[in-house]
Amino acid sequence: MSESGAENTEALAFRGVRKSFGGRGGTLRVLDGVDFAVDRGEFVSVVGPSGCGKSTLLGMAAGFESPDEGRVLAGGAGVTGPDPARGVVFQQYAIFPWLTVADNIAFGLRLKACRVPRAEHAGIVDRYLELMGLTGFARAYPRELSGGMRQRVAIARAYAPGPELLLMDEPFAALDAQTREFLQESLHSTQLAERRTVLLITHSVEEAIFLSNRVVVMSARPSRVRDVVDVDIDMPRTPETRLTPEFIE
Ligand code: ADP
Ligand code: MG
Repeated sequence: MSESGAENTEALAFRGVRKSFGGRGGTLRVLDGVDFAVDRGEFVSVVGPSGCGKSTLLGMAAGFESPDEGRVLAGGAGVTGPDPARGVVFQQYAIFPWLTVADNIAFGLRLKACRVPRAEHAGIVDRYLELMGLTGFARAYPRELSGGMRQRVAIARAYAPGPELLLMDEPFAALDAQTREFLQESLHSTQLAERRTVLLITHSVEEAIFLSNRVVVMSARPSRVRDVVDVDIDMPRTPETRLTPEFIE
């Protein structure tokens, strides 16, 4: 499926992506030629000022939007629409209120497109219940949970079927600081264990550095990639590594 041999390691690529929206009395130029790629097994974060087009980029990777110019490639093939191979987590938890926590997490596993054998489902659900600090809540319904717990269910549900690519748009933005730190630590240890391919959108440089092995820094609108920073994901996370390094202002 790859367009060239060199792209085989790329799970996701933006190539010369431009996008405008029809603003009042004119055109709002949002993305002004964005180029970067996410290799398989990489956790890449995109940071940038509010309104620079981060959610627009994620929407394109998910297949909800298309670029005006340039291309968005997943596994070397052009993205044409949503695909279960790409799991998405939004800022506001989107889980099914009529399903228990365990059934929400198992949802993607039970879809026809998911090739995980049925015998493995229960074990996978248990693992993500534990990773997300939801042990004991398997049979609870979303209405019985706090907002933070619902968002943990949404993340577990996205991870469980093992999508080729995980796309997360400010998944911690609506959470309190304590829940956010707990989830950052859970995602970081999950990443060390599983080396999933993740594109995370965040407005927090600190969060990006804590979680990622590469941080893509966008400029203000009309945006381009301003900087790409490599981070040692295997370096133990301590309170100090939560500090923002001087090279990103
Ligand atoms: P970010 O996630 O970085 O804050 P967004 O990608 O949400 O930025 O939005 C970038 C800009 O594009 C914003 O000014 C926003 O208002 C505008 N925008 C996003 N989606 C649409 C849309 N569907 N129609 C019109 N304007 C939009
Ligand atoms: Mg956004």
